[in-house]
Amino acid sequence: MFHTQILTLFPEFFTSPLQCSIPKRAIADAKVSVDCIQIRDFANNKHQKVDDAPYGGGPGMLMQVAPVVAAIREARQRQPNTHVVMLTPSGTLFNQQKALEYIEKDSITLLCGRYEGFDERIVDYVDEQLSLGEYVLSGGEPAAMCVLDAMIRLLPDVLGSPESAVLDSFTEQGLLDWPHYTRPEVFEGQTVPAVLLSGNHAKIEAWRKEQALLRSKQRKKRDL
Ligand code: SAM
Repeated sequence: MFHTQILTLFPEFFTSPLQCSIPKRAIADAKVSVDCIQIRDFANNKHQKVDDAPYGGGPGMLMQVAPVVAAIREARQRQPNTHVVMLTPSGTLFNQQKALEYIEKDSITLLCGRYEGFDERIVDYVDEQLSLGEYVLSGGEPAAMCVLDAMIRLLPDVLGSPESAVLDSFTEQGLLDWPHYTRPEVFEGQTVPAVLLSGNHAKIEAWRKEQALLRSKQRKKRDL
């Protein structure tokens, strides 16, 4: 079983997404475990406060170093070889390659920030800083859920068809997926490419490869 841990102020955020579809089944089949650690449990004050104002002034509050580091230590105690990932817009961009890399680890711990982010000294206690993209979320939880979902579907025997993950975008030579069609054959004048109805598997495979290459090239051009 692949063990994951989430350090968060909002464990309830994960309840619903983990109770649907593939993650739900993977947890039920003991392919993955997801354990939330409430950072607030490590605050040593009456009101369980874990944030404070930034030195030097400025808007908002920051996650304090002491409770976050205590929560990281708890995570490392529970899963001694865990790889601790801080979710932050300043991190390395997440991608399919990273998801494949993560599932090879013994365990992954995802650290979710809130407020204006973390006291910088926390960086010394994590293994990696990871960003979901060049935008700002209100908390690390949606980012952690995306990372979790991307990892879970790659775990052995989680997808109904093991081929699905291999054929997904970004997996084979980093290419995008090809276009797919299902019934009906005609929808509001749009038809299914004739080759897909031909029954000629060699031709279908060649067409799919060509389409995947074309899409990938078009996207590269668009993103330049
Ligand atoms: N002040 C921070 C900045 O501009 O970089 C943003 C803080 S954000 C409001 C609060 C938390 O959400 C962050 O500490 C981080 O955990 C999470 N977060 C926001 N955007 C993210 C992103 N693109 N990738 C990963 N985590 C993100």
